[in-house]
Parts: sequence; structure tokens; C-alpha cells
Amino acid sequence: MRCAACGSEQTRKCSIVYEEGTQSGTISVTPGGGSPLHAEQVTSSALAKRCRPPLEPHAGGFVADIAISAVLTCLWAAIVVRRAQVAGREVSPAILMEAIVVAIVLWFVLHNWVRPPLWRWGKGKRLLAAYRDALAGWRKSWICSRCGEISTETSQ
Ligand SMILES: [Zn+2]
Repeated sequence: MRCAACGSEQTRKCSIVYEEGTQSGTISVTPGGGSPLHAEQVTSSALAKRCRPPLEPHAGGFVADIAISAVLTCLWAAIVVRRAQVAGREVSPAILMEAIVVAIVLWFVLHNWVRPPLWRWGKGKRLLAAYRDALAGWRKSWICSRCGEISTETSQ
């Protein structure tokens, strides 16, 4: 593979440069003599960052799903309170705890089981196709050690 920009033959695959320049390790912190906390840390050199693969798109919507769950939980609570009033019963204070559980379950179902398939079927379809193309292109891309130009096999 010859560099398309400067003609140098000193080119290397981006995927290899990225892997070589990226280290992942575990850092441990022990706050106040308690049990240690572990965190995964990934560090990349500046060159590896230039050679990194495309980011996989995700459905997202973390905050939006919290908002939707909150609104649905309020509706649920309103129905429970209304039915209690119609039946002439006292509303149990336990409804607060129940509402928290309902909100968490709603959020979990919405965020993990409803949104991702809808996203893949709609807006995500195009993004995932573009990502697969970009990933295939990245696997075939080379970086020049002399001028730093990144080129793909087909660009010659
Ligand atoms: Zn070059």
C-alpha cells in the first residue's frame, strides 16, 4: 500500500495502529479505608485516536424515557386515586412507594425492550447501515507513517 498523498510506502493499517496505541487497564481507588472501587480506563495515544474505529450508534433517549415514565406513572397514580375516591376509600400512603416501583419498571421496559427495536426499525436503520459501511471502510484504511494521511484501499 503506497500513500496516496506523498507516495511513501511506509503505511500501516489503521486498525493495528489503533490497537497498539490503546491500553485498557483497571484503576482502583479505596475511599476512606472502605472497600476498593474498580474502574475500567481506556487510554489512547494521539495517533491511535486518529485511527480509531467509527462509533457504533445507539438508540439513546435515556432522559426522554425517564420523562415518559414519569408522565405515565402520574397518569397511573391519578387513575388509582380517582378509583379510590369513587369507591369512597382512603388512598393508602403506600401509593408513593408503588409509584416509584411503577416508574422504574416502566422506564426499564421502555428503555430496554421498546425503544431499541423501534429505533432499529426506524431512524436507527440508516445510522446502523452507515456505521457498517464506515466500519468496513475503517478495516481497509491505512495511515502513512511519513505524512499522516489516512487512505482506504479503494482510494488509489
Ligand atoms: Zn504519506
